[in-house]
Amino acid sequence: MSAPASSVPTASNALFDTFARAPLAFERGEGAWLFTPEGEAYLDFSAGIAVNSLGHANPTLVAALTEQAGKLWHTSNLFRIPGQERLAERLVDASFADRVFFANSGAEANECAIKTARRYHYVSGRPERYHIVTVEGAFHGRTLATLAAGGQQKYLDGFGPKADGFDQVAFGDISLVKAAVTPETAAIMIEPIQGEGGVRAFSNGFLRELRTLCDAEGLLLIMDEVQTGVGRTGKLFAYEWTGITPDILTLAKGIGGGFPLGACLATNEAAKGMTPGTHGTTFGGNPLAMAVGNAVLDVVLADGFLDHVRETGIYLKQRLAALVDQHPDVFDGVRGEGLLVGLHGVKPAPEIVAALRAQHMLVAGAGDNVVRLLPPLTVGREEVDAAVAKLEAAAAALTPARLEA
Ligand SMILES: *Cc1c(COP(=O)(O)O)cnc(C)c1O
Repeated sequence: MSAPASSVPTASNALFDTFARAPLAFERGEGAWLFTPEGEAYLDFSAGIAVNSLGHANPTLVAALTEQAGKLWHTSNLFRIPGQERLAERLVDASFADRVFFANSGAEANECAIKTARRYHYVSGRPERYHIVTVEGAFHGRTLATLAAGGQQKYLDGFGPKADGFDQVAFGDISLVKAAVTPETAAIMIEPIQGEGGVRAFSNGFLRELRTLCDAEGLLLIMDEVQTGVGRTGKLFAYEWTGITPDILTLAKGIGGGFPLGACLATNEAAKGMTPGTHGTTFGGNPLAMAVGNAVLDVVLADGFLDHVRETGIYLKQRLAALVDQHPDVFDGVRGEGLLVGLHGVKPAPEIVAALRAQHMLVAGAGDNVVRLLPPLTVGREEVDAAVAKLEAAAAALTPARLEA
């Protein structure tokens, strides 16, 4: 047996006990690899849960951050921030949106989206329209409002009354969405592909029907692209696969490449209620975050980058399909788009995650017996081949021994 891999033999009691952490800590990273203080290498196909979009210690990001760190960290939004104006203009140029609000996380970006949608109806003379329809299996964050939006009872228990104004419907049935819309509905909020919910994609047909419904009823369509955005699915935004556009869209995770950064994008019309004083943030969009966000876009928007993500994603899915065929006792399906891939297990996700960790490969569990493969978008065939070799070893370890004939 190998020695315990961790540099942290006993976890500190000085922390809140909110996370079931693996007994592992890392000292440095390079590309898709993480290294423990003892120098053991782990192949990182979790990428900080779709955050390290350009891999660890990406030289472009390191240069952007260190250059900015020597000049100016923070001034607050009492002043203009040129990096913010530049990043907003680039996001606007590359999307349906006209305006951007910067925050520090996905939940905060979604709070901004919810406030923007409610305020839109308020200034349109329909203040009673504050309800948001969401879909079962959704994950929108851990603040009180975004928990109510996600609607998962296990996350809501014990925190007082659920924030008012969120109505949830079952997955993927347009007639249920129509039935949930009332004269008090402000918006429909959806992840085009549910991430935490198990890499569950909505069909383009369903998303188009949502758009039609929103237009007919005067509702805003909010897309939570905190996980799917910034190249993860092989397009800059996942909505680009669908043939429709949202009115409001949120980003976080990948746009900061590891630096905390979130964004709420909206059309001029949808954002018309967000006038001076209606929303704010101390840290959001500070010069450090903006330097990194702009550097992430430099890479992701460069010629050929998204083609590379799409090609690598197809190769990964092909290799995983063969793996599933060879190990039907362990895996029974592959789903997802680009480099947001879910491997559906016959066994519970935590068992598969642990078996992969034993092979020095990191993945993220998700709902519905799914392990998510979310490598940095910079990986190529070499890393995919290394991942599949580790998956094969983990599958063999998980396969019940058979009696010989
Ligand atoms: C991770 C995630 C969030 C929450 O982001 P935080 O930065 O943890 O607040 C919201 N929506 C989706 C789709 C996510 O994947």
